[in-house]
Amino acid sequence: MHHFLVSDYANPSQPYSISRDSKRAVSEARETIAKCIGAEGDEIFFTSGGTESDNWALKCAGDFSRRRVITSAIEHHAVLRVGEDLKRDGGEVSYLPVLPDCTVNKGELEKIIDDNTRLVSVMLANNETGALQDIASLSDIAHRHGALFHTDGVQAAGHINIDVKSLGVDMLSASAHKFNGPKGIGFLYVKNGTKIHSFISGGKQERGMRAGTENVASIVGMATALKKNADSIDDTAHYLHSLEDIIIEELKGIDYIRNGSANHLPGSLSLSFPGKDGEALLHVLDLKGICISTGAACDSKNTQISHVLKAMNVPEEYAKGTVRITLGPENTKEDARRIGKELGRVTQFAAQS
Ligand code: PLP
Repeated sequence: MHHFLVSDYANPSQPYSISRDSKRAVSEARETIAKCIGAEGDEIFFTSGGTESDNWALKCAGDFSRRRVITSAIEHHAVLRVGEDLKRDGGEVSYLPVLPDCTVNKGELEKIIDDNTRLVSVMLANNETGALQDIASLSDIAHRHGALFHTDGVQAAGHINIDVKSLGVDMLSASAHKFNGPKGIGFLYVKNGTKIHSFISGGKQERGMRAGTENVASIVGMATALKKNADSIDDTAHYLHSLEDIIIEELKGIDYIRNGSANHLPGSLSLSFPGKDGEALLHVLDLKGICISTGAACDSKNTQISHVLKAMNVPEEYAKGTVRITLGPENTKEDARRIGKELGRVTQFAAQS
């Protein structure tokens, strides 16, 4: 990245000779990313991140004589708010419910899909619980009805093995900062032959599909990060699951619910403690140098439980006291033990809702 920021900063889309190296770097990055997800190089389009990739897929792909998009109730707002845009523009959007373990029941999709459905979009891994969806079965149902299938793979890319062909998806969104790459860069995988028009219009970059001068340094950084993660993905997953076990062991004897499915992103825990305030837990742990997230946000009057916990029907008493822990390979076993111990301590003695 440094090289392409300070030395070799030519515009890769220009025909002159000093652009040759940056052009080659962009092309190599595209091939590297494609290989990591079982795609072809010309199926990868660079974007500014997950939000843009999701917007592009939902707003611009498929047969527009069909008015309906089906998505799930647990999507990130980068999909849910696009649904609002589509409705405002006269489209129809339906939301699949989830089971209590945060997985989409494919029978529900069978029940509601029809020949007016342009696109089905279901995320590969949920950003709150880490729950993984049965994307291959869902994409198969969509295709049997002539609809396209998009998956938001932002949380999953670089953390689980992804093969777009066996998932059967037409489009997959990813964002570099979720796999230790730079912020503000991502990609959309678009299967060759998919009917899609550009979302950002202007110049001819990205084969006329995504205008704007390429962010060469970030593209190179993203490819390097994804390859690095992909090369050690199984070992990292095994290690992160072992860290989860340490935290769970430290919480023995404490009343809580672990949200999500047994099939989840490595190192991802969503835990709900009854009678507690997730945001207060966040701040107490922050003071101890432990950075976690919540599943509920407080304003001056109310606690807003996340749409994901609501969709899963987590009892309110528990949902309000939800914390989300995301572990990475740089976390040690000692970190996990300390997180478990401190969480046990603060949920026993502090942060009542
Ligand atoms: N989709 C999911 C599942 C996410 O978790 C996020 C970000 O947290 C996004 C989309 C948006 O990605 P970005 O911040 O790169 O636009």
